[in-house]
Amino acid sequence: MQNDELLYAASQLARHLRRSGVQWMPGPDAEKVAQLADSFQPPDAHPPSATQSASPSKPAPPPAEGPRKSAASRAAGRGESGRRPAASPPDRLGDATRSRLAGVPPMEVSDGPYPGESLSAPQRLEVMEGLAATVAQCQRCPHLASCRKQTVFGEGSVTPRFAFFGEGPGADEDRTGRPFVGRAGQLLTKMIEACTLRRDDVYILNTVKCRPPGNRNPEPTEIENCREYFTTQLSTLRPEYVVCLGAIAAQTLLQSKLSVGRLRGKLHRYFDSKVLVTYHPAYLLRNPSAKRAAWEDLQLMLRDAGIRAGQ
Ligand code: SF4
Repeated sequence: MQNDELLYAASQLARHLRRSGVQWMPGPDAEKVAQLADSFQPPDAHPPSATQSASPSKPAPPPAEGPRKSAASRAAGRGESGRRPAASPPDRLGDATRSRLAGVPPMEVSDGPYPGESLSAPQRLEVMEGLAATVAQCQRCPHLASCRKQTVFGEGSVTPRFAFFGEGPGADEDRTGRPFVGRAGQLLTKMIEACTLRRDDVYILNTVKCRPPGNRNPEPTEIENCREYFTTQLSTLRPEYVVCLGAIAAQTLLQSKLSVGRLRGKLHRYFDSKVLVTYHPAYLLRNPSAKRAAWEDLQLMLRDAGIRAGQ
């Protein structure tokens, strides 16, 4: 494994642990990573320098001292102010290298890390329970509030690597208070399991928490009324990946007017999360021929996440 790949892997692990609520950790030390990579080089391929190419036909890269110093100073854990930096650990790779490692096209521009500190699991649970109680009493959309049997807040792990973000509750969800439990929900569960995950491993939530009558699309004002709730959920959970299921979820999260067809096929950004757009399971039930494309979307994400799933 090359130095930049090791550094990238260390950065990814550190980002994941931070998102999962680990309160402090040392940043990846570029110097140590380079030494580690050097120690794994076969004797006959040992390069003259830990960061120099083994191929004589390639020009040597620029001296590593500058970038290493920068990375090392960032890896010190605290800035001049003495406070822990809120930003993610250093990522020295360009989009091209990252894409080569992941086997996916480059991502769109990052919006940066989620605001504020990442919470521990018990703190997250407390925030989510408090928010769920608030949502249960919510009357911001008078029509939806008068029609609903109950609100559907969301469920799953509070330290998820993956979150699945849908549109809104249907009749089964309205009846049970749980997201994605009808026929579409059963298909979503199969999709999650095809990713070698369990429903309990991920978090499942919707754009609006009340069922739009007749399963109509939520109105823009209803989505805006509910925006505070799902943004708080996501900034509390900080999943590494958010899978947007269908146009409403994707356009709302990415603040885009593009169709699913235009948004799928690459990873987008929502703060510190990578965002995948794919078809809603209800659409897949009506259009089974689109299942192949949806599976290709999930595989794109799994490759990026370093997860092997069936082809
Ligand atoms: S959809 Fe959201 S904002 Fe509207 S009443 Fe339900 S919980 Fe409140």
